[in-house]
Amino acid sequence: METQAVYEHNSYLKNLKAKIIDIRYKDKIELLFDKTVFYPEGGGQPSDTGYILAGDERVEIIDAQEEEGKIWHTVEKGEHLRIGLEAEQFIDWDKRFQNMQSHSGEHIFSGLLSKYYKANNTGFHIGKDYFTCDYDIELSREKLQEIEILVNTVIQKNIPIDSSYPSQEEIEKIDYRSKKEIDGPIRITAIPEVDSCACCGTHVGSSGEIGYIKLISYERYKKGIRCTLKAGMAAVKYSVSASDIVEEIGRKYSCSMGDVIDRLEKTEKDKETLLNEIKVLKKEKILAVSEKIEKQENLYLKLDADMEDGRVIANELLSKCRNLFLHLNKDQFLIASRKEQAKGIFEEMKENLRGGGSSSMVQGKIVKENENMEKDFYSCVERNLKEEM
Ligand SMILES: [Zn+2]
Repeated sequence: METQAVYEHNSYLKNLKAKIIDIRYKDKIELLFDKTVFYPEGGGQPSDTGYILAGDERVEIIDAQEEEGKIWHTVEKGEHLRIGLEAEQFIDWDKRFQNMQSHSGEHIFSGLLSKYYKANNTGFHIGKDYFTCDYDIELSREKLQEIEILVNTVIQKNIPIDSSYPSQEEIEKIDYRSKKEIDGPIRITAIPEVDSCACCGTHVGSSGEIGYIKLISYERYKKGIRCTLKAGMAAVKYSVSASDIVEEIGRKYSCSMGDVIDRLEKTEKDKETLLNEIKVLKKEKILAVSEKIEKQENLYLKLDADMEDGRVIANELLSKCRNLFLHLNKDQFLIASRKEQAKGIFEEMKENLRGGGSSSMVQGKIVKENENMEKDFYSCVERNLKEEM
């Protein structure tokens, strides 16, 4: 026997008395009722959750899934439940109402995109406090914002939303959107002069109840776009915190909300200029260090510089020195050699160092600093020199 889907005809019903007509045991216990107020997951809308009261016992319903007209309700614990038992069903109304606002909002958004830009809705998913819709064409930010405002105009007009099963004769006259071919009776959700769409979901009774729709973001997806939106109170809360953030930025930069973008762009430019100046100064500093160094065979040098600067200094100094050990900031080191001896020197001093590189340059971290490191370096390079002779 198929489950009578009461939510299809009355999406505002929050509780209902029903009889358990079958029980099955999969990973968890699943109940089949003669009728239900629980919407099963489908068409992008998540399943309702809630609980049932069976006698004095409260049993949580954590999921509902439809299989060939039967709606199975997954329960957390329910060993005492028996076929034939009467139970009262209660849905989590806040979650359901948010889903109804999101789902109706999606129909208006997709309906208007189809009407004005021939964009076909190819995907829909309701998350916890947001929903995403996919379309088969790319749309500009301006076009999406224009539709976002139109959606909210439809909301303010408080247009009735009706879901029903028209007769075959009636349905032939309706120009409705549908993602797929449907066998059997077709349920149409109609919003006069805005949209008609084949849909199995639960909707608000009139567009005004959606309250507010906010487009949060959009991105390229497959060959079109994916839009993320919020409806109702989730949209209100988002807008409150988003404007709060922009205001806070304005306060930090001592400008009005309207000037925030200009100010951020200016700050970005100033930063770039400063970074370039720092680069020039660093280069001068490096050249100054290099100029002070006398021509010599080998050099051990402690420097207030990072690895990037260290590499530049090393390249400068290699014109004056044969082998070089730079002890840099944050216990970093760099061994450079004009005679391809960097790896050899590193191998000999390895006890204190971790790193890698080529025969001309090895870099890394000094893991064990000891006072003899400078001495070790000079004795090591001198030994290499002797071996060469
Ligand atoms: Zn729908």
